Amino acid sequence: MSVLPILQELQSVHDNLAVIHRDLANFPPELAALDADLKSTRKRLSDVAKTLEALEAKRQELSKTLSLAQSLEDSARTSVKSAKQKVQYTAALRDLDARERERSAVARPLKEAEQRIETLKAETTELEAKEIKLQSEFDEYHTAFLSEHENQVVAEKRLTIRKAELELALGAGELNRFNRILQQRHGKAIVTVEGGTCTGCRTKVRSMVLHQLKETGLVACESCQRYLIQSAPQ
Ligand SMILES: [Zn+2]
Repeated sequence: MSVLPILQELQSVHDNLAVIHRDLANFPPELAALDADLKSTRKRLSDVAKTLEALEAKRQELSKTLSLAQSLEDSARTSVKSAKQKVQYTAALRDLDARERERSAVARPLKEAEQRIETLKAETTELEAKEIKLQSEFDEYHTAFLSEHENQVVAEKRLTIRKAELELALGAGELNRFNRILQQRHGKAIVTVEGGTCTGCRTKVRSMVLHQLKETGLVACESCQRYLIQSAPQ
């Protein structure tokens, strides 16, 4: 059996599905606003999660550095207490002073990181609640929207089933080729030849290829690779 009728029907199924998908994505203003709000909330949630992950890593790093600085400070303090001579004592005090400064230099950014983590965790909780609320509002409007477009929803189901049947009938190799062309050529895989020219890419078709087209009813455009068929008789 020739693949031509299958290809032509598959192309028409794709054309009809594209129209339906455009209609079903064409939300009324309030639904579009909810959709946009939902998307931006999700985007913010994911940004906050990334920032939190980075801050958590920083917090752990600073926390390790702080406990090291703390133990150095503790031993410097012990040295001060155990110093017997004035020279020893003065040097130990100077060392302790330096260690204290080192510790507080780490403690400050650690505290800042901890505060930012708390703030972002609170924001996450708020955003998650907002997402749930928006999602349920969106679902409600969207269900109403789809019931107003019941014809398209039914047609979409029917066409999707038909598409699967045609794809099965076409076979994997030809289907891959068809889908590749469809994707590369903005949804148009099959075009007619008119006046010896491919109507897809406006390239003149060689006479040998035109002859082949007459014989078989289907050829590939040598320029854009689309399937070429003869134009319907006037
Ligand atoms: Zn072409």
